[in-house]
Amino acid sequence: MRPVIAECPWLGCDQPARLDVLVSVPGEPPGLPLRMGGYCLGHAVIVGIHAQARHGAQLWYAPPTQLLRHPAST
Ligand SMILES: [Zn+2]
Repeated sequence: MRPVIAECPWLGCDQPARLDVLVSVPGEPPGLPLRMGGYCLGHAVIVGIHAQARHGAQLWYAPPTQLLRHPAST
């Protein structure tokens, strides 16, 4: 059974992955961001900076998809 919240895939990091790192790729339609994966807070920032430097695209963070199913929170 998989846990609802995955662990951060960063080597040696066993914290829960609480953030998805997303970048929009130039030339791709809006609303179709490239998902870099889910990481803990600290590593999401590092991965995001690297992704932005590599793709030169807009960068943002989002809660993992599993956590988005709370209509009452909006
Ligand atoms: Zn981490």
